[in-house]
Amino acid sequence: MENGTLQTWGKEVFDLLSWYKNETVRQARVMVVGAGALGNEALKNLALFGVGNIYIVDFDTIEFSNLTRSILFRPEDADKGLYKAEVAAERIREINPQINVQCVCGHLASEVGLGLYRKMDVVIGCLDSRLARLQLNRLCMRANVPWIDGGIENLTGNVRIFRQNENCYECSLTEHAKQHISQQLSCAGVAQRNEQAGRTPTTPVIASIIGAIEVQEAMKLLHKKEVDSGLFTPLTGKWLHYEGMHNRIAVYDSRSFDEDCPSHECWNDVFQMSSLSADTRISDAFSQIRRCLNVNEVEINLRNDKFVDIIVSKNDNQKFTPMLPESKIPDYIDQNYDLYTRPRTELNQNTYENIDRNFPYKRLTLREIGIPYYDVIEVTTEHGLYHIELTGDAGRYPFINQEKV
Ligand SMILES: [Zn+2]
Repeated sequence: MENGTLQTWGKEVFDLLSWYKNETVRQARVMVVGAGALGNEALKNLALFGVGNIYIVDFDTIEFSNLTRSILFRPEDADKGLYKAEVAAERIREINPQINVQCVCGHLASEVGLGLYRKMDVVIGCLDSRLARLQLNRLCMRANVPWIDGGIENLTGNVRIFRQNENCYECSLTEHAKQHISQQLSCAGVAQRNEQAGRTPTTPVIASIIGAIEVQEAMKLLHKKEVDSGLFTPLTGKWLHYEGMHNRIAVYDSRSFDEDCPSHECWNDVFQMSSLSADTRISDAFSQIRRCLNVNEVEINLRNDKFVDIIVSKNDNQKFTPMLPESKIPDYIDQNYDLYTRPRTELNQNTYENIDRNFPYKRLTLREIGIPYYDVIEVTTEHGLYHIELTGDAGRYPFINQEKV
């Protein structure tokens, strides 16, 4: 055997482990959100373990400063300003050509459909902001998929697992942290200051340690029988804290799932519509939904993003027409000199949160108003609320449609 490509990955190596189920791992679907320092380490380990279907989500491009903690990136990637998710996907395919890897170069909430989250066995969060964690938590709760959170700073790191009915990221936050996040959330669109998140000092070693623990926990969650039999104890309901200055590692009980938390919504009852895609025009989507559900009133509730048609300057009444999802407004302002130079308090935006028969731009597609491919949309009708999957987009993610044996 010259290059080993005809051999099964992990054969004669992982088979020595009593718990490792080759088929389970080969058929697993794992999403890594964030392809920075932690994400690089998590992805490398998933590829080495032979996890069969890996999805990478990151909107950012590679900078030279990332190279100190990112095993998958090279100086020329930074020179070219390539997307982290795209390069990471290419490099882990080189590490293990037997796995399927797909990436989304976009934001975890506004550019990844809930349909994709729903297909995952586990999601690994490699994020560096509370707001992103809160958004990922809500999506994973809706999709009923467990997610593993890793965080690093200096020589210290934390790992926790959040899942429906057991432990929730939002419930674990202090009141002060919740207030800070809700301030950030209310500062969307024109009011957003778009400030660079403060850089957190980290090292390649802490990224290795915490990224590795995240993958080890993911492997446990994939081996459900071994967890049930007590062979493994995953971190569900616990909080692992590693402190490298003086070598302390501690596991605390940490379970919070409050009754009135807005994050716990679970969209289990999903109606799949294979004729619907994010590229469908709103007018067509309305008539298809009316026909399929046998209803007259259709209102699409934009749950992750809003739609902004007009920005008006209060001072001179000048109008700008972005016609964009709210998440894209800060970039729109940055790229428009006339807008950029005005104080943000001077700007008023007109926002749509619900799209009904009075929406004036029904020729736009669902994607143009901020709904990602393969999303699940929430629709209010006279017969109640429905959750509808844009199943027409499933072909964009070919590996998720391979039936598990
Ligand atoms: Zn909660």
